[in-house]
Amino acid sequence: EIDLQTRRSLELISSTSDDKRSCSLLNTIDYTLTGAGGRLLSSYLQSPLLDIEEINERLDKVGFFIQNQEQHTFIREKLKTLPDIERSLSRLSISKGRPEDIREIGLALDQIPVIRNGLNVPVLPYSLEKDKLALGEYSALAAEILSAIKQGDLPALIKDGDFIQKGYCPELDEIIYITNNTKKIILDLQAEYSKKTGIPNLKIVFNSLSGYYVEVPAKSAGVLLNDPDKMFIHKQTMVGAVRFITERLTELEYQILKAKEKQIALEVECYEKLRKKILDNYDGLKDVAAAFARLDVATGLAECALCQNWTRPEITDTLDFEIKGGRHPVVEQMLKKQQKQFIPNDCHLGGSENLWLITGPNMSGKSTFLRQNALIAILAQMGSFVPADSAKIGLVNRLFSRVGASDDLARGRSTFMVEMVEVATILNEADEQSLVILDEVGRGTATYDGLSLAWSVVEYLCTHNKCRALFATHYHELTILAQQLSSVALYTIRVKEWQGDIVFLHEIVSGAADRSYGIHVAKLAGLPAAVLHRANTILQQLEKKNMKTDLESLPLFSMPVAEEKKSPVQERLADIEVDSLTPRQALEVLYELKELTKE
Ligand code: ATP
Repeated sequence: EIDLQTRRSLELISSTSDDKRSCSLLNTIDYTLTGAGGRLLSSYLQSPLLDIEEINERLDKVGFFIQNQEQHTFIREKLKTLPDIERSLSRLSISKGRPEDIREIGLALDQIPVIRNGLNVPVLPYSLEKDKLALGEYSALAAEILSAIKQGDLPALIKDGDFIQKGYCPELDEIIYITNNTKKIILDLQAEYSKKTGIPNLKIVFNSLSGYYVEVPAKSAGVLLNDPDKMFIHKQTMVGAVRFITERLTELEYQILKAKEKQIALEVECYEKLRKKILDNYDGLKDVAAAFARLDVATGLAECALCQNWTRPEITDTLDFEIKGGRHPVVEQMLKKQQKQFIPNDCHLGGSENLWLITGPNMSGKSTFLRQNALIAILAQMGSFVPADSAKIGLVNRLFSRVGASDDLARGRSTFMVEMVEVATILNEADEQSLVILDEVGRGTATYDGLSLAWSVVEYLCTHNKCRALFATHYHELTILAQQLSSVALYTIRVKEWQGDIVFLHEIVSGAADRSYGIHVAKLAGLPAAVLHRANTILQQLEKKNMKTDLESLPLFSMPVAEEKKSPVQERLADIEVDSLTPRQALEVLYELKELTKE
């Protein structure tokens, strides 16, 4: 489970920066080649798994394609041209389909044998074997579709017709022949009648009022009027000419006039026939589409792991969290574009180091470190390789993060209120199997309020939630907690002071920071020199007067850790020895307890 706020703050699907998609984790790992693959990857990312076997099945597939480059390249080549049949199938099933949807299904099904062949190796991982099986036998359906639907541009609407190939429906071919050859058919018939009657200037004429008719000069009309076969039926006598119709001509006229209408009706009929055949195989074809999408995701994640040098994580049912040489996938890519290097960092939570309290200067990389470990957990549990040298992760049941600040003015919540609501959720819901990352809790209020809250949150996390947690803070006073709570470990991010400036080393090491170098960062950000100078003076005065928190004198330090007071009922219950009570005494105790609840 990952709550909405955590999804947003970890920028899984879209980023809060201007470039919404490109800075998201999804964009960094998306090497899929088909629409369905892209959608499946996004859903994997949004719902990591809790079943170690299932996670390993996905990882096996990614691992297979990393190790079998030939198959990897071949399948990806094929996927590149694969149409999105999942979409086509849903459109066809709700009668919103187009001829193109049918053709795309045919084209995709036609690729099944090719793709299955590409997976012909002696040993396939079980999960890939399942995908291969899901790619059922549909060559007959593919052949029929491809012989039925034309290649090239197709009409967007079925009622526009002109999408069925010649040879698929003889009746339709005949109709199309008539439409395309109207003029020639009439001229051929005219020549035939002329020859039969011996009248060279016999003509077949068309007008919109009378339709088609045979016209001969009045002086030649006798031949037709006295025709022994009675083929010519008198229609009209004009001043210099006589008009006739024939049964054949009337039929032809009907065929010509109705041809377009009939053509479309026949094409719709063919379309419906094909649509029905497809929908009769709906479940199987859905499986094919899903198997294609899974192959796309697996080969895409393999490509991602190869390009970005990721490793296979080990998922266990312990409470370990051991990352060696972990990196933030998105920040690493951004830095790469600027020819800069990302500094990898280790993280090992669990046991005596269940909560890492991280202090360090501004801009040193605390938030990046927090997020990278959360992202590594998500990637591992969605079945992807991870940006680290090695990763051993005890299954995380819920991931909580409170990083970055935002307000929710529309719902009447200030920035600090939003922060507290999020912290409340974490403290109420996180358990031993959860992973929690908290960045600068309490910074949005007065120093002492913030410090007190941060302090008690760390205590509660260690004694009550007992979850694996990373807690970054600028309250350096909190580092005293490491002496109080055995599961708190102190870490800091190294910086070097050099000629009055600081150099960020982005390297996490055991220990605590004593300064935040906030004024140095403000200088980097371009604050006016006068402001910086004044800030330095004030800082020196504050430090001299020792106005920093004297923690020994704070009630915070002597606060009992998660000591809960027992209620009178609990106390009385603790005194009772159930086995030595008679039934009557038991009844009396019950009355007594009932009385105590009223107090
Ligand atoms: P603040 O306390 O001011 O919020 P921070 O300590 O949380 O700062 P980040 O925001 O995590 O610092 O990092 C600041 C910048 O440092 C990042 O945008 C990134 O460019 C760079 N950075 C962080 N971690 C690393 C790293 N491991 N390797 C290289 N560069 C890094």
